[in-house]
Amino acid sequence: MGRLGYSEEHEAFRRTVRTFLDREHEPNLARYERDGGLDRAFYRKAGEAGILGLAYTGEGDFTYYAIMAEELGRTAGSASTGSSLMADVATYILLGHGTEEQKEKYLPRILTGEITQAMPLTEPSAGSDPTAIKATAIRDGDDYVINGDKYFISNGSTADLLYVVAKTDPAKGGRGMSVIIVDSDTPGVTQAKIPMIGWRQGDTGALSFTDVRVPASNLVGREGGAMAIMMDTFLEDRIQIAARCLGAASKALELTLDYVKERKVFGQRVIDFQNSQFMLAECRSDVKIAETMVDMALMRLRQKDFTFEDGAILKLWATQMEGRVLDKCVQLFGGAGLMEETPISKMWTAARIQRVYAGTDELQKVAIARGLMEESAA
Ligand SMILES: Cc1cc2nc3c(=O)[nH]c(=O)nc-3n(C[C@H](O)[C@H](O)[C@H](O)COP(=O)(O)OP(=O)(O)OC[C@H]3O[C@@H](n4cnc5c(N)ncnc54)[C@H](O)[C@@H]3O)c2cc1C
Repeated sequence: MGRLGYSEEHEAFRRTVRTFLDREHEPNLARYERDGGLDRAFYRKAGEAGILGLAYTGEGDFTYYAIMAEELGRTAGSASTGSSLMADVATYILLGHGTEEQKEKYLPRILTGEITQAMPLTEPSAGSDPTAIKATAIRDGDDYVINGDKYFISNGSTADLLYVVAKTDPAKGGRGMSVIIVDSDTPGVTQAKIPMIGWRQGDTGALSFTDVRVPASNLVGREGGAMAIMMDTFLEDRIQIAARCLGAASKALELTLDYVKERKVFGQRVIDFQNSQFMLAECRSDVKIAETMVDMALMRLRQKDFTFEDGAILKLWATQMEGRVLDKCVQLFGGAGLMEETPISKMWTAARIQRVYAGTDELQKVAIARGLMEESAA
């Protein structure tokens, strides 16, 4: 049975992305891992292939972006690349909330892969609670002057364009936070890489801002509007993460099926043990349910009927599903599943990250429980 809700154009885009990743990403995996990141040529080739353009602008259709996320998830290399290629929500913020001048200045170069982006919000002492950030952007004449430290930022050590979240009015707490664009070559900005397990060719960075002066016209949206801007991107971000989980789980199952058909133990193939078949059946069920959940989420997003609670449930379930499937797959590989060089071991460690970033499991549960409590109080 085919997938629900995808047009011919969507499926053609899926083929383009898969061919591109097979040609440009997978063969270079070892080099990217050694160098600790994708190279600029890769982004430019993605731009030339039209992948960035459609995924980001998609003629108003987020499905293109979700397809790219799923296909990226399916590559063994995605376990190393993580979200670097897409910089998650950054372009959505520019498209949805940037001024015409900001879009004109940056968008063409984003779509050709010439410039890469990052969204620095998290700080060493503020992760799950974004309102606890200490970074400030204080108005001084026609400029903002930014000071503070950011931590665990995807693309952080290499990105050219930073959508920094800082307090423009610290006295107002969460309502005093704004998003401000900073070119990373502005004096006072430093960028460094944080070595992480998983996503070995991904770039997770630490940044610091010391008296960084940028024009006030770099403000995205309104002053104090950072929380509203981030809330506005949550729904799409949850779906793209779920699509990546789906891609990874489905690819892991394929890799495992190939392996257990070949590997012999006690004179028989691993796939011939009934226990293996049961584990594979559980994985298959998870992947099929994930497909339905992602496809339904996209349809409901198009109908503007996908809620914040739906997004929390999707992120919680899909990331746990990916972890569950990858864990079973590693078990079926035996020792080979724990060798550093095998794609399945990379996918396993990468899957763990998904339950922490972009809102931990616990934060999704807090959001879901809040809805429940409100309903039961009504
Ligand atoms: C690979 C990677 C990429 C990332 N990319 C970005 C990025 O691009 N931009 C960015 O800004 N950030 C990014 N992050 C940061 C990420 O969003 C945070 O790590 C995440 O929000 C958790 O924050 P924390 O690490 O400070 O954990 P903490 O907030 O310190 O949480 C520690 C533990 O406490 C639990 N906890 C917290 N609050 C509650 C509660 N109310 N109830 C129950 N339990 C709770 C958490 O679930 C967790 O288990 C990235 C992180 C990683 C690992």
